[in-house]
Amino acid sequence: MQIFVNSITSTTLALHVQATDTTDHVKRLIHHRDGVPPHLQRLVFKGRPFGDDARRQHREHSTTTPRPPATLADYRVRNGDTLHLALRLRGGIDFQHREGSKFGGGGVMSESQAAADRKERLRKLALETVDLDKDPYFLKNHLGTFECKLCLTLHTTEGNYLAHTQGKRHQQNLARRAAREEKLGLANNATNATTAPSATANAPPIKIGRPGYKVTKARDPNTKQRTLAFEIDYPESEPGAQPRHRFMSTFEQRVEPPDKAYQYLLFACEPYETIAFKIPNEPLDKSEGAFFTNWDASERKFTLQLSLADPAEAAAALKRATDAAVRGGAPKRRVLATDAAVLH
Ligand SMILES: [Zn+2]
Repeated sequence: MQIFVNSITSTTLALHVQATDTTDHVKRLIHHRDGVPPHLQRLVFKGRPFGDDARRQHREHSTTTPRPPATLADYRVRNGDTLHLALRLRGGIDFQHREGSKFGGGGVMSESQAAADRKERLRKLALETVDLDKDPYFLKNHLGTFECKLCLTLHTTEGNYLAHTQGKRHQQNLARRAAREEKLGLANNATNATTAPSATANAPPIKIGRPGYKVTKARDPNTKQRTLAFEIDYPESEPGAQPRHRFMSTFEQRVEPPDKAYQYLLFACEPYETIAFKIPNEPLDKSEGAFFTNWDASERKFTLQLSLADPAEAAAALKRATDAAVRGGAPKRRVLATDAAVLH
């Protein structure tokens, strides 16, 4: 039978195996294909540890009779199933030989130092074992920095990107993508051994098109202040989805030539394409009530309202700017969204 492994390079490996193959055998196959030594592999199948991890938990119950090596059948892995691979870190920090610690004394490591060490070890491991050319989500942009096309994040170095691919966010996005593909029957389209899995291996995240939207312009009769309200409809968004927005400067976008008079307001929500509106590049009114967002989870409608700070400037700029300058998320466009609302 054939099974798949979503590897740390975000690629998918297809393995030909027997139900009677041991988990160790599977790890050796992965090692052969992906270069990650078995003892560094952390495999997850249907949300559960696969291989050593699970067996270790059972060890106390089986001290009298040694168990035979676990097989794929023991884990109920069937033809077409997908395992998820992450790197396992060799545990333990060498407290004794750390710089600045006395011989024999175990220094206490600060949390940030431990995190930095962990990142550095991940980075080194990944550099040793990962071929970035095979990573469909790795993008070197023309500014010389790196992007994760899956998470829409920006990275200053390859090492930083690699550390990101081992992080929670990237792993979660990989898992989500795998779940979505499975739902759509894509992950299992190679149900017999003769079908190549490459069609799904390098497929970009599935997008279902642009959302519907409505833009309302208003002017306060007293203050003459201009207000823009954006309503974006995401009827097909997944339960629990949280639309995001972000402001982007004209120099950051790569869709059209920069124009200092404008900035862009982006909206993103999986599995829709990201859309952007071109708005005047003017200070926003940050006072209470002037700016707000709302996600109506039952109507699946995201609302954002903003007010331009200077009424006179705003009026002039709004003549030039137009909501007709709406830009869609063309396929080649890559938007660097951030988690945070940028305004405050
Ligand atoms: Zn990522």
